[in-house]
Amino acid sequence: MHEMSLAMGLMREIERQLEPYGPEARATRVFLEVGGLRAVVPEAMQLCFRAAAQGTVAEGAELVIEQIAPRGRCVGCGREREIDHRLFLCPDCDLPVRLLTGEELLLRSIEIEEPERKGHK
Ligand SMILES: [Zn+2]
Repeated sequence: MHEMSLAMGLMREIERQLEPYGPEARATRVFLEVGGLRAVVPEAMQLCFRAAAQGTVAEGAELVIEQIAPRGRCVGCGREREIDHRLFLCPDCDLPVRLLTGEELLLRSIEIEEPERKGHK
């Protein structure tokens, strides 16, 4: 299950992003873009995210996963196509299709709660 190492990496990224907001800042919602070729199982990712978030600034945060459909462009006819694996061949020209999207693993945005700004101690 590679989702755990992805979740750990994601957590490091989140902590780095929250650093400027001070020690009280917490992530409440995390938006993640995942390309369809990354073979990330959303349910597994959710579980691993929750586990990895324990004791971090993202503990209890909601993970929102946006799946990106893999697309590529044929090196022959230049047409854009939806693809389902890396070595996809254009059905018209039998030529390779160059990957445009599908391998993303991108921390899109984080919703942050800053207790001080909300008037708490
Ligand atoms: Zn083609």
